[in-house]
Amino acid sequence: MTASKPETAVNIATDQLAAARAVCCLTGAGISAESGVPTFRSPGGFWAGRRPEDLATPEAFLRNPQEVWQFYSWRRELLRGIHPNAGHFALAALTEVVPQLTLITQNVDDLHRLADSDGVLELHGNLWVDRCTRCTRENRLNPAEYSATIPHCDDCCAMMRPGVIWFGESLPIKTLQEAQNASAACDVMLVVGTSSLVHPANALATWAKTNGAFVIEINPEETPLSPLVDLRFALPSGEILPQLVEALRLKRRSHETF
Ligand code: NAD
Ligand code: ZN
Repeated sequence: MTASKPETAVNIATDQLAAARAVCCLTGAGISAESGVPTFRSPGGFWAGRRPEDLATPEAFLRNPQEVWQFYSWRRELLRGIHPNAGHFALAALTEVVPQLTLITQNVDDLHRLADSDGVLELHGNLWVDRCTRCTRENRLNPAEYSATIPHCDDCCAMMRPGVIWFGESLPIKTLQEAQNASAACDVMLVVGTSSLVHPANALATWAKTNGAFVIEINPEETPLSPLVDLRFALPSGEILPQLVEALRLKRRSHETF
């Protein structure tokens, strides 16, 4: 449901979060929109005027590694100087007011970590990581020093590639399993800024719901998940998440007082 009065919806969400032992949060490109990172499918988004199969597949990299590398260099360039917003910070603060929070993201922008969230489950990798196309080596990149040309692995000399998951590739199995387990076990699931179109991330919320969680969606636009959720905030995440955390803090404080 979308509560007609925002205060009512905040109260409902706060009550659910206050009673929860375990909370899960799945984020998508929308949470970073207020930081100035283009979303995936928006008119000015990354794929506007581009074909994903030309740039974000293993086949594209084999065919034309330099072109793919340039696309990722451009995306890295866009991220330099971009900071987490109030939504990222609110989720980092949420760990202090709920007993257990598992933060799962489809984003590759590293902004949750920069906002001080620990142990984020990154389903689609991270733009600031290169990994070897042959062995298991991964290099964490320094945004000030990443290479504009394709580097080679220090261990086996093969080409490095961006440490993100491309179309047609499997998600990192351990990370996905942890995300699935946390989704199945949580009491409240927050789904923030995702169009819920990308599989298998979009199955996590329905998995949580099937296992009895209260599901809250935060997204100014309706998504295929919207009809299934228990509560919807049709608002930007940078606006509503800080309100929820603050309301939860106040609730906790009033309980400590009495
Ligand atoms: P998406 O672009 O498909 O959907 C973004 C959603 O965010 C939309 O439903 C939109 O209505 C909503 N939104 C826009 N502004 C918002 C705001 N201020 N607050 C809350 N919601 C807002 O993104 P997705 O579902 O994450 O798509 C998945 C793919 O996009 C992933 O593979 C991900 O790796 C990739 N991606 C990541 C980034 C990033 O790292 N920041 C950016 C673009 C794409
Ligand atoms: Zn190697």
